[in-house]
Amino acid sequence: MEMDKLVALCKRRGFLFQSSEIYGGLNGFWDYGPLGVELKRNIKEAWWRDMVSGHDDLAAPPGAPTAYEMVGIDCTIIMHPQVWKVSGHYDLFVDKMVDCKAEGCKGRFRVDHIPSSECPLKPSKHPGEHDKCKLTEPRDFNLMFKTIVGALGTEEDAAFLRPETAQGIFVNFRNVCDSSRVRVPFGIAQMGKSFRNEITPRNFTFRSREFEQMEIEFFCHPKSSPQWYQYWRDRRMKWYTDLGLAGERLRLREHGKEELSHYSCGTSDIEYAFPFLEAGDFGELEGIAHRGDFDLRSHMEGKLVTKDGQLIVEQGPDGKPKWKGSGKDLSYRDDLTNERFVPHVIEPSAGADRGTLAFLCEAYHEDQAPDDKGQMQTRVVMRFHPRIAPIKVAVFPLVKKDGMPEIAERIYRAIKPHMTVFYDESGAVGRRYRRQDEAGTPFCITVDGQTLTDGTVTLRDRDTLKQWRVHEKDLVAELRQRIG
Ligand code: ATP
Repeated sequence: MEMDKLVALCKRRGFLFQSSEIYGGLNGFWDYGPLGVELKRNIKEAWWRDMVSGHDDLAAPPGAPTAYEMVGIDCTIIMHPQVWKVSGHYDLFVDKMVDCKAEGCKGRFRVDHIPSSECPLKPSKHPGEHDKCKLTEPRDFNLMFKTIVGALGTEEDAAFLRPETAQGIFVNFRNVCDSSRVRVPFGIAQMGKSFRNEITPRNFTFRSREFEQMEIEFFCHPKSSPQWYQYWRDRRMKWYTDLGLAGERLRLREHGKEELSHYSCGTSDIEYAFPFLEAGDFGELEGIAHRGDFDLRSHMEGKLVTKDGQLIVEQGPDGKPKWKGSGKDLSYRDDLTNERFVPHVIEPSAGADRGTLAFLCEAYHEDQAPDDKGQMQTRVVMRFHPRIAPIKVAVFPLVKKDGMPEIAERIYRAIKPHMTVFYDESGAVGRRYRRQDEAGTPFCITVDGQTLTDGTVTLRDRDTLKQWRVHEKDLVAELRQRIG
């Protein structure tokens, strides 16, 4: 699939628009249109339902050492600045950046995104100049967006937009334990916006400056944490395959020992072979990390920073940790065994926008289907899993007469309380099918001449193109069973 076809479809059909497009857009920011917002919402709801609200707290899942609980939280985007100092983001959440010094080029790149020490824009952006072309020395660039809280506007009022949702979970660990009586092992989930001032936002929504994350911090006993790591790795991979990202384009990549931070006994990425990447390359959808007790301990005791695998407790002039922790006890006492410990954390951290983009790429297909005259034509069809499809069913009267629109409207209204449904009576029915294929609508209902005599309608399957008759009164049950 060529990426430009998908990008064009996303704009044409209202999945994705450039932010502030009428003013020329803003690099790294994207808006979801009417179809896109439904798609992304369905993905987020599937995640919340499968990981949190639909999770059976009493059953020990296959592969897990014991039963576990899951609860949710919704924290603020701006948090106490100390959070980011203690977490290490203030000092270490940096990318190395270089600028091209050639006149008129203005190229700026992340060092690890360019293959050589030459400006990748040459010679197109500065023809003739490129032999002189030099890049600046790499320098650190902190990815956190800074803002000011309050009216005074001094540096002391500086705060940051969160670059991840995870820290909100860690700093509320005590609150959740005390208020909801969860017992380790348990997980806290959060979805919401995160912000990173990416040096080179690119590849459609893949690398944006404002995006949504879906993160779980799973707290467990240190001894069983390797098992829980395995469990979450497999569980999260299965979630993507169940929703339709199967096959060679999806893979789970276990990080090598040399890639791991000193506190981690395992990290893996769930990756997708996005069409905008070079053949054989994959892009990260989600990282699943064993984080030990690093985060809770840092928020208790002060800033513990890892640099090149080394643990650094940065000291202030008084010899104490430079960035103090909260000083609050974030350990856990098991009331059955009386054991007190700082829980280990397994973190499955997913991007809602990258997930949505992968589902869009996977869904895009072109095939041959007959038009109204029975001639085979190329059709574009978005094969979303019915659970995430923006519109579940469309209702058409075959013609705008003989009472068909009235019946179709009645069917539309009967379905509306149960699922997203779209009514369309304009144009030839074949064209209406095509429009729904492009939107990824799994089923279409057509009210025709036979409906007037026996009350049945035609139900059409988007993928197989099969059509069969269902009685009007059985429609909702049949659709619910097929959509799941
Ligand atoms: P990358 O290496 O691609 O920058 P990362 O390893 O920094 O990603 P994490 O910090 O692990 O990413 O964030 C967890 C998830 O959040 C990622 O797997 C991804 O889905 C999402 N994410 C991170 N940065 C962005 C971004 N700039 N735009 C969209 N999604 C993002």
